[in-house]
Amino acid sequence: MKKILITGGAGFIGSHVVRLFVNNYPEYHIYNLDLLTYAGNLENLKDIEDKENYTFLKGDITDEAYINSIFEEHQFEGVIHLAAESHVDRSITDPLAFAKTNILGTMVLLNAFKNLWKDNWENKRFYHVSTDEVYGTLGEAGLFKETTPYDPNSPYSASKASSDHFVRAYGETYGMSYVITNCSNNYGQNQFPEKLIPLFINNILTDKPLPVYGDGNYTRDWLYVVDHARAIDLVFHKGLNYETYNIGGFNEWKNIDLIKVLCEQMDQKLGRSNGTAEKLITYVKDRPGHDLRYAIDASKINKELGWEPSVTFEQGLSITIDWFLNNKEWLENVTSGNYQKYYELQY
Ligand code: NAD
Repeated sequence: MKKILITGGAGFIGSHVVRLFVNNYPEYHIYNLDLLTYAGNLENLKDIEDKENYTFLKGDITDEAYINSIFEEHQFEGVIHLAAESHVDRSITDPLAFAKTNILGTMVLLNAFKNLWKDNWENKRFYHVSTDEVYGTLGEAGLFKETTPYDPNSPYSASKASSDHFVRAYGETYGMSYVITNCSNNYGQNQFPEKLIPLFINNILTDKPLPVYGDGNYTRDWLYVVDHARAIDLVFHKGLNYETYNIGGFNEWKNIDLIKVLCEQMDQKLGRSNGTAEKLITYVKDRPGHDLRYAIDASKINKELGWEPSVTFEQGLSITIDWFLNNKEWLENVTSGNYQKYYELQY
């Protein structure tokens, strides 16, 4: 049975990737390695935790001795690396934590993989899941392509850019088989409520202000998380070695327009009169170094691998809101820290 290591599988995107691989590939054994930081939550994987082809490993990707030991023990043939510190605002207050996890942690994994397979790279693959934020910011026009020069502006994006470079360097220097994808903003079930969409859903439910940075004209491309997981599956199996693929929804929104659609859907679903949620919008001081606009050209993955999003933004948003409304306990647990305490006792 082929053994695949997925890192960060208890996090938002990782949990969707783990579920897809465990359910769709019974011929693989999936090892989910996660440190269970504030962002990791095994509740996200309740439905698959008893499957025979799934094992959870609690550990730190920066712990070299531990990482080397699990690579030796399990002989992973594939690595899908998602574990990271992922929140831009937190990177502004604690940049070193981002350098440690995102750069050093990635290097520790690369090194363990290299030492395990040396120059025998046939049917092996290191897949690095990265972000479009490595490209910096766009003006009013243009799209990020795979060939756009890196120009990161936040400690988060600088740490992800650096880890992308190390992955490429291991390919060039040691011949390691790798693929990298750079994806736009994700949203969907299980997203931690510090990110825009779940934060605003939670604030509307609890009647708190909706903080909008600057003038609200910052523009992002949004992708439903299940479509990101489908793209990762496709690239892991069909992508070419040493290639980068951009993943995006062809779905640009100015923050303020997106927030208005979200408010409208929330009012409808909660049976409130139109305009109730919008009254909570509050403009706040801008984030330092805030990138104006991100937009992805996803035509390479579309043309070469046949990937496209399966839902429109309005559909994905509606599914996401319904999930949060039906899982208020999940939201209460993660916002109160209850689940952290519970899992500290379990592992
Ligand atoms: P997340 O913060 O929800 O999850 C990260 C996971 O990594 C958590 O489960 C956490 O416990 C784990 N982790 C953190 N430090 C660790 C360590 N030292 N050792 C082991 N595990 C550790 O993040 P996410 O939003 O799911 O993002 C996953 C990946 O996708 C990240 O690499 C991120 O850069 C990338 N990405 C995210 C987005 C997005 O919109 N969220 C877009 C593009 C790319």
